[in-house]
Amino acid sequence: MDFKKLHQIEPGKSVKLKSIETKQGGPFKNKAEAVEFTADRNEKIRDLQYRMFVEQKQSLLIVLQAPDAAGKDGLIRKVLGQMNPQGCRTYPFKVPSEIERAHDFLWRIHQCTPATGMVSIFNRSHYEDVLVVRVEDLVPKKIWNERYEIINQFEANLVAAGTTILKFFLHISPEEQLERFKKRLDNPDKHWKLNTGDYAARDKWDQYREAYEDAIAKCNSKQSPWFVIPADNKWYRDASVAGIVHETLTQMDPKMPPVDVDLDEIRALYEREAAEQRS
Ligand code: AMP
Ligand code: MG
Repeated sequence: MDFKKLHQIEPGKSVKLKSIETKQGGPFKNKAEAVEFTADRNEKIRDLQYRMFVEQKQSLLIVLQAPDAAGKDGLIRKVLGQMNPQGCRTYPFKVPSEIERAHDFLWRIHQCTPATGMVSIFNRSHYEDVLVVRVEDLVPKKIWNERYEIINQFEANLVAAGTTILKFFLHISPEEQLERFKKRLDNPDKHWKLNTGDYAARDKWDQYREAYEDAIAKCNSKQSPWFVIPADNKWYRDASVAGIVHETLTQMDPKMPPVDVDLDEIRALYEREAAEQRS
């Protein structure tokens, strides 16, 4: 199954989120089949990611954007966070701090892009600066409108430096979101996630949708693609993203570096030590 092809938005095309089903099951007959697929891909992802860590030649940046309760945290827990933590970091981007606000909007982002061999996962990202900032009118239109091009140049710079970029929009319906808000209310372990802002954002659902459609259409290229992931089914969300990350790492084809020591010499050293220990 080619999940990349299935969910990648074609560069240069506009996107209408309303015409993309939020609830899909893809090729899976049921949840169990998808969960099994995800587990299999997680294992393969971990292996390829560790190879990339050892290879030290390229890096991977995964950007997650979504309305509240669409499942960024769950996706990180069940798929992306399964990678080897030696070579993988997650960065949440919240309301900018005073010092962050005193810099250009990419300042805090650039510090978190992956070094060679590493994977960075962005839980929200520089796209907030053309999403929440646009809808909530936090800066004048002239400012946010210039940011699409600035983002394109920034991402092109990362690609030129050897970073592969994957950007995921988790697409849920307002009905599913409200149901998840209810589950949060009913579960004391999730009360820390509650806030009134989530409800205020629901009143602006259409404005957010338009802002997402613009961000996706204007900042989408073959090298830095957007994927719209149907996220009403958590198991489909996990399986399709696992599929895409696995396909991508397979194409990146990280290789163990060539041996640069004299194996015979090391073997002789070992034999000497072993003989000494025996005597
Ligand atoms: P959460 O990810 O649910 O913990 O919430 C983080 C909050 O920070 C969200 O409401 C985001 O919209 C907000 N946020 C993230 N980046 C920015 C930004 N650049 N400007 C304003 N708000 C932001
Ligand atoms: Mg939240």
